[in-house]
Amino acid sequence: MTDLTLETPLARTRRARRVDRALAVRYPDARCELDFRNPFELLVATVLSAQTTDVRVNLATPELFARWPDAAALAAADPTEVEDVLRPTGFFRAKTRAVIGIGQALVERFGGEVPRRIEDLVTLPGVGRKTANVVLGNAFGVPGITVDTHVQRLSHRLGYTTSEDPVVIEAELGALLERREWTMASHRLIFHGRRTCFARRPACGACPVAALCPSAGVGETDPVRAAEMLKG
Ligand code: SF4
Repeated sequence: MTDLTLETPLARTRRARRVDRALAVRYPDARCELDFRNPFELLVATVLSAQTTDVRVNLATPELFARWPDAAALAAADPTEVEDVLRPTGFFRAKTRAVIGIGQALVERFGGEVPRRIEDLVTLPGVGRKTANVVLGNAFGVPGITVDTHVQRLSHRLGYTTSEDPVVIEAELGALLERREWTMASHRLIFHGRRTCFARRPACGACPVAALCPSAGVGETDPVRAAEMLKG
């Protein structure tokens, strides 16, 4: 187990990169789990993923994008019809308002296209830094750290930060990892959070980074029982 009180900044950087490499071996297929074909679809799907699973979003988006395939179509959509399609994703009224608002904002201010700058993306309704970084990293290839609930929790457990502020966590994590790894390192942490390092009871006994983790032992330590808890 890692003693954080003795860890220098350089040692922490090295440890974070070793953790990331180990997670890359464990999750070679780590990726964005939302289905999308272009930046517009990823932007909308990411907004819809709030408070629900990517699986549920992926069930709703084929019909959504078949009926309203671009910003102009969504901007002119009948909200009642969009609500019906988005109902299974939860909070469907707020999400309908957000995605129609995104369509309108894209048409009015960005020529119907998704902008490539974070400063512009965060001006869209329902779009914060988390969503903006998902779009930049996965649709435009611009490295970005996505601080979702898993990245937030794992950054604490791994001793990368003591902050609760996603903007601070994004900066601290960004300083530990190479910029070119930001997008994929985020996916790997999210995969680890979904499959092994669960919120309530992590499977520490089956964790590939237990020797590098200051929180190792907060969850199930028995290797057999921990292995049975793994998902995916
Ligand atoms: S599963 Fe346990 S050992 Fe692995 S990262 Fe999470 S808290 Fe640390």
